[in-house]
Amino acid sequence: MLQKKVACLIHIFIFLVFSIPVYSQTIVSPYEVGTWMGFRDAAVSYTFDDNCTNQLKVAVPMFDSCGFKLTLFTVTNWSPNWSGLSNAVANGHEVGNHTVSHADFRDITDEQEELEISTASNLINTNITGPKCITLAYPYCAPGNDSICALYFVAARGCQQFVEGSTPVDFMCVSSIICGSSGSVETAGDFENNLNYALTFKGWIVYLIHGIDDDGGYSPLSSGVLRASVQHLYEQKEKVWVTSFGNAARYIRERNCLSVTETSSQDSTIILQVTDTLDNDIYNVPVTIRRPLPNDWISATADQNGMPLDVVTSDIDTLRYMMFDAVPDGGDVVIRKSNITGAMDEQSAVNPDRYRLYQNYPNPFNPKTVISYKLTVNSKIVLKIYDMLGREAAVLVNGNQSAGEHAVEWNARNYPSGVYLYRLQVYPVGQEWHAQNGAVKGYFETKKLVLIK
Ligand SMILES: [Zn+2]
Repeated sequence: MLQKKVACLIHIFIFLVFSIPVYSQTIVSPYEVGTWMGFRDAAVSYTFDDNCTNQLKVAVPMFDSCGFKLTLFTVTNWSPNWSGLSNAVANGHEVGNHTVSHADFRDITDEQEELEISTASNLINTNITGPKCITLAYPYCAPGNDSICALYFVAARGCQQFVEGSTPVDFMCVSSIICGSSGSVETAGDFENNLNYALTFKGWIVYLIHGIDDDGGYSPLSSGVLRASVQHLYEQKEKVWVTSFGNAARYIRERNCLSVTETSSQDSTIILQVTDTLDNDIYNVPVTIRRPLPNDWISATADQNGMPLDVVTSDIDTLRYMMFDAVPDGGDVVIRKSNITGAMDEQSAVNPDRYRLYQNYPNPFNPKTVISYKLTVNSKIVLKIYDMLGREAAVLVNGNQSAGEHAVEWNARNYPSGVYLYRLQVYPVGQEWHAQNGAVKGYFETKKLVLIK
């Protein structure tokens, strides 16, 4: 173990001496880009190695219930559960490369190393449809050849046991912290301490987990501790971004070379270009941008390439800000002045010709219920659950859907009893939903549901 740590430390030392990161961020005033998604103060990625059974059985459903995304680093000739991994990827989780045979890179040639990683990536990409494999975890924490790994991956994970800053020292050897009985993080308190530390410098915590409970994996972590740590993060989700290793790495790289410029600014419309210099096939995660609203604006809407963006308006110090997530190189962002407050109680935009929102069934319910609705035209849909204080509790749908009947299940297993609201926002695709004042006119409706445990 000591030998492995030394290997990675030497690696970092060499990196620091010979390679100083160069950033080419160009953000025109008064725009700012979030260090982390949503201007949160830290990021946390849970990564799981070695195909241990309870990762799919226990961890994935646990993360799903909070809307969090995780990373499963798979060894391709250790009988991966491809259908389970595919389902996880379909839910937004990441499957990364942990080589074909769990090869120790200290013992093999560069050619063998490249064959291990390229073969494993090909197998992952063949067996799982959707996003391509973009990350690697080094078996035995033994880093590989940077220049080979950089050809295949956005980032590779080592195990140097420290919390990274907002940009890792070396994308090809990102530090992780080993959890469980043989690691330094074993209790819910250990997880909390790491988080509190990361919050002091906008750090990125990458956890490395193998076994969960008694599934036979290395350094098992108790599922109760894992659940406690995830629930603690859920309670702090306004401050902490919990996301997959690959998403965090892509966000950082996009943010560090982001360009935000205005191409047009008029009384009620601003056109913005959000670009980067990276490969758009891979670097397509949205980054968070904010600006104070222009002086006489009450609120604003935004769309990118014609599709509505969720805009959050909030007061910071004495200024009212608008904040939204945009994909670099995803098309012009058009910001429009609006006088709609977007408050929860606003029902005026209900339009039965465009959609129907039905009462959930069953209701009351425990713990699952189904929410159905009907669209008369293809639309962008946002369906969220809120508690009675108006705090977002879950995002059930956020994306484009075609005309027709739709139904989505909400599993409230991890939520307390009580009355909740579900709110459907509908933005019909096309231009007809731009009102005369130029504001994006979506439709929205809110209904109540009751969880009794
Ligand atoms: Zn491993």
